[in-house]
Amino acid sequence: MTNANLYALLEAHFPADLTAACLETPDGAVWTYADIEAESARYASLLAERGVAPGDRVAVQVEKSPRALILYLACLRAGAVYLPLNPAYPERELEYFLGDAAPRLVVARPESLNGLSGPCERHGAGEPLTLGAHADGTLVEASRAMPNRFDTVERRSDDLAALLYTSGTTGQPKGAMLTHANLFSNAQVLHAAWGFHEGDVLLHMLPIFHTHGLFVACHTSLLNGSPMIFCPRFDAAEACRLLPRATVFMGVPTFYVRLLREAGFGEKQCAGVRLFVSGSAPLLEQTFEEFRERTGHTILERYGMTECGMSTSNPLDGERRAGTVGLPLPGVDLRTTGDGGAPAGPGEVGEIELRGPNVFSGYWRMPEKTAEEFTDDGYFRSGDLGRIGEDGYVAIVGRGKDLVITGGLNVYPKEVELLIDKLDGVAESAVVGLPHPDFGEQVTAAVVREPEATEPSEQSVIDALKRDLAGYKVPKQVFFVDLLPRNSMGKVQKSVLREQLARQRTREPGSPPTPRAATAPDP
Ligand code: AMP
Repeated sequence: MTNANLYALLEAHFPADLTAACLETPDGAVWTYADIEAESARYASLLAERGVAPGDRVAVQVEKSPRALILYLACLRAGAVYLPLNPAYPERELEYFLGDAAPRLVVARPESLNGLSGPCERHGAGEPLTLGAHADGTLVEASRAMPNRFDTVERRSDDLAALLYTSGTTGQPKGAMLTHANLFSNAQVLHAAWGFHEGDVLLHMLPIFHTHGLFVACHTSLLNGSPMIFCPRFDAAEACRLLPRATVFMGVPTFYVRLLREAGFGEKQCAGVRLFVSGSAPLLEQTFEEFRERTGHTILERYGMTECGMSTSNPLDGERRAGTVGLPLPGVDLRTTGDGGAPAGPGEVGEIELRGPNVFSGYWRMPEKTAEEFTDDGYFRSGDLGRIGEDGYVAIVGRGKDLVITGGLNVYPKEVELLIDKLDGVAESAVVGLPHPDFGEQVTAAVVREPEATEPSEQSVIDALKRDLAGYKVPKQVFFVDLLPRNSMGKVQKSVLREQLARQRTREPGSPPTPRAATAPDP
């Protein structure tokens, strides 16, 4: 039987000449594929020596660096279940993850060590290891004495490779269990769909505690046996400097918005790039068009989520359509269902349901929640609302939980946001429901004006929308804000926004019913 361990499957595609570059950092340091093999072998040996057995969870909260990626690969090699945590999580939140996932080992930043010993001891995780951004920390020190070779542990395709926490409607984040086969099948599909080939160089500026940066970007590149320019974070000026050396770039929409704000960004930097990918949050049509005008490149938008990896993509060859996330990827069954689970018709809004080898095996230690989220015929209820056009292109309308129900009628925030975004002077907008004594909820808009713009006013937004929308969809109130609250993946945090607007409303005359309870922040 072949070893279904994801590392072994990726390794089979490493270049024949292992002295080829795998990772390059912006300061010019190079990690070859041979270096990656040797360093991951040392870390894997150390994990085993620390008692990490196949199936044990290893929680990792460190800054992004080549060694952090190698640690992920080492966890795979040791047969452990990798649990990445956003470095922004404070100690209080960490306690929840340690309690829930019961990791055998925690690897954290050297500066977090003091605060960690207590929680690790309480949750049976033993003495933590540390990894800093600059080759510092006990992981690197202790691994120096370890051998350069390690026999990658045998794993079955349905064994767990990673546990990624994702917040949901229940408030508490849930651990999505991803198997070796989930991750490898998705890597193969994306590698083929996006035409990876010899000579590709991926400019990597995403965080690596999330599906997008860790799985989508790293797996496709490793499977291609080609190099990544591995940056600690996104920085628009740095992207302009490095793009001329890259052929593929992956980003969240905010990256593209920020690139477009860079004076002098355009065709020159992008001449050698063959593919720009966007996802994790909706790409505004305005950004899509402006990027095309400035660079001559059409961004390829795709749709995915922690639980499923990537499920749809606009085509590499063929029409990439603004405002859509393209077509289901090979092997993915995607359907939309309306109330009561009946299929939604073409063009009708329904909940997106997904089935395929990419779909996770359930929520960690939550069998009931898992059962609720799957249909009898094995589809995962994504919680996203979308519509499938006659020609199969999928458009995301928003999260089901963000739907506003006013006077018993459904309002999809996206429909209202798209119209507001088209108004002169508007940079972006977000629509939420706030409690209302008669209607249950009232449609409420938050608008960010273009820099220096003093228009539109609240009344002009409302007047403009009245021309195009049924009355119940028109916002009852419009607030002007400097920024929309976003998480690190560029998603607008609607629960945070609802709270902000509810507070702002209480300060205004003629107010307010009580604000809706907050949900946990999006990781
Ligand atoms: P996460 O689990 O953090 O990756 O978040 C997944 C969610 O992000 C999905 O369920 C969608 O709501 C949203 N999302 C991802 N990609 C897109 C996209 N291209 N357009 C709109 N929403 C997206």
